[in-house]
Amino acid sequence: MRLFAIFGDPVAHSRSPLMHNHVFKSLGFKGCYTRIHLKDGSRLRETFFELGLSGANITVPHKEAAFQACDEIRGFANKVGVVNTIIEEDGKLIGYNTDADGFIFSIKPFGAIRTVLVLGAGGTAKALSERFRDEQMDVIVMNRSEGRLESYKEAGFKTATWETVEIKEYDLIVNTTSAGLDDENLPAPLEILKPLLERSSFAADAIYGKVTPFLKLCKELDLRAKDGADMLLGQGVLANNYFTNESYELQDIQNSMQESFQF
Ligand code: NDP
Repeated sequence: MRLFAIFGDPVAHSRSPLMHNHVFKSLGFKGCYTRIHLKDGSRLRETFFELGLSGANITVPHKEAAFQACDEIRGFANKVGVVNTIIEEDGKLIGYNTDADGFIFSIKPFGAIRTVLVLGAGGTAKALSERFRDEQMDVIVMNRSEGRLESYKEAGFKTATWETVEIKEYDLIVNTTSAGLDDENLPAPLEILKPLLERSSFAADAIYGKVTPFLKLCKELDLRAKDGADMLLGQGVLANNYFTNESYELQDIQNSMQESFQF
């Protein structure tokens, strides 16, 4: 029996144990997934080995500490310095980032996306923008305040504030702000957001577990939109694929993990 865990602070709300245990059970993989409330991110590595884990997910606020804790970083995680999935391989910790790949996976049903307007300029926006650019998408990052856009400008991204954004057609508009998470705010004023959404083909919200004002507006405008549950699902499917050593079809993992969302 292999043991896996999610590390976070807080971590009680995490749906990951439910998602991964359901997949292990339905695919016949001998694994068990639990949650570890870790306050001090610098203790991640020793806690991982003390518990004899085979793999782990890492959530807020330890994703950067997880990057530091690894012996080797593979793939996209190298670009953003943020790790959300760790695998033990021959006594070494291997770090991956499946958050952004999970999002790409989740928007596959939208078909080819060429232009993306990213709302927000925090950690999630950073990972997604870099990943979109890897996919040759044209990315514009819009934030309510100017300060956070500096690092994006330095990284060569097009940026805009509410005052300067060009109202035109984008294939996809993604809300990565926390507006709507614990309040009823839109990620930008209605007079800006509405004409943008009216001209767009698809929308997606990183927030899950509630219908945000952003998603409500998309629905009113009859715009095809996804909530953050698909991003959560996408990152989980890819992490599970690493946990189970790529032994199962991604589609089978996805179908099973999707079932766990009904519980
Ligand atoms: P950060 O704190 O790093 O960034 C938050 C961003 O939101 C900033 O750009 C901030 O703008 C902006 N913002 C906050 N409030 C408002 C508001 N009222 N109006 C407009 N802009 C606002 O957050 P993260 O990037 O870590 O997370 C963002 C969201 O993504 C969260 O809701 C989180 O739950 C969700 N998430 C979902 C995941 C999933 O699997 N579905 C995975 C990871 C994150 P400013 O710079 O002006 O302050």
